[in-house]
Amino acid sequence: MVKYLDLQGITAKYADEIHQAVARVTDSGWYLQGEENKRFEQHYAEYIGTRHCIGVANGLDALIWILRAYIEMGFMHPGDEVLVPANTYIASILAITENGLKPVLIEPRLLSYQIDEDLIEQHITERSKALMIVHLYGQCAFSDKIKALCLRYGLKLIEDNAQAHGCVYRGRKTGSLGDAAGHSFYPGKNLGAFGDGGAVTTDDEELATIVRTLANYGSEKKYVFRYTGRNSRLDEIQAAVLDVKLRYLDQDIELRKQVAARYLQEIRHSEIQLPVVTDRDQHVYHIFPIRCKRREALQLFLESRGIQTLIHYPIPPHKQACYPEWNNLSLPVTEQIHREELSLPLSPVMTSEEIDEVIAAVNSFK
Ligand SMILES: *Cc1c(COP(=O)(O)O)cnc(C)c1O
Repeated sequence: MVKYLDLQGITAKYADEIHQAVARVTDSGWYLQGEENKRFEQHYAEYIGTRHCIGVANGLDALIWILRAYIEMGFMHPGDEVLVPANTYIASILAITENGLKPVLIEPRLLSYQIDEDLIEQHITERSKALMIVHLYGQCAFSDKIKALCLRYGLKLIEDNAQAHGCVYRGRKTGSLGDAAGHSFYPGKNLGAFGDGGAVTTDDEELATIVRTLANYGSEKKYVFRYTGRNSRLDEIQAAVLDVKLRYLDQDIELRKQVAARYLQEIRHSEIQLPVVTDRDQHVYHIFPIRCKRREALQLFLESRGIQTLIHYPIPPHKQACYPEWNNLSLPVTEQIHREELSLPLSPVMTSEEIDEVIAAVNSFK
């Protein structure tokens, strides 16, 4: 059987170092907001290429805190608009509505799955305050045109980098390309913890300070509360584990790219659309998305051949029950992607036999 993602196998690669790191924390008697967080934050900021990194409880909170910090800074007010791709994972959108801001859903491009940059400008109004781009599936959504639009209209550029740790745009990492970025360390992400975790990266010192304060009850100083914050901190154990895995992230990304390169070269099927990738640096293959009009049949066929697949994602945000006001919206590209997308197994621990198996199975789909 080829698993969609062998987390046990991924952990086993670094088991000794991880066990040592966990033992260091358990023996230290210090479990929150200590040296492990400090070290990981410093290493991750260096890796991404930003001045600041703040560890938080999860990726959703990372995005929530960025927007909330802009509200606290007086840059945005509830009711203001944030432009966001319509086909993203729901967390990007939840972070906007959680802050009383209004998401403006923008269609992606069918072949790249990334926000269609030609559609952004027509959605900008006086209430638009930010553009949140999402490096969906691990592919860079940034472009110089997007940056120029944000500058021209005074929009903050926020990156949802939950799926793209280590992705590179012309020598710079995603997560350092905009004004602030949210990262997730959910176990299945390319850089995954042993539970929930997240981070905000930014060069903006004021934003960094506010995010850190918000995620610690809004407290600047013990028992003194500046904001109505929440408890949203990264555990020491998670920081210690992440610091080990960060050292191997580039190596793991390279292995992911090798699997993807074989799929791209060897999968040949008239009914299957492979991802279109123009620049090797700009995709870290968190997900390998293919599209097929007969997606359900393909998924069942692969399952019968022992190959696990997932769908990212079966229902677009605007069709979800939690957003009834959008249920009648028509976003045909987004809807097509959600109808046709299927994610093939891909991880840094796949064997070449497993890759062979996936390719042979997909190619023999009838
Ligand atoms: C995983 C994910 C998030 C949320 O991260 P969590 O750590 O699960 O809260 C946000 N955006 C995208 C695109 C994601 O894939």
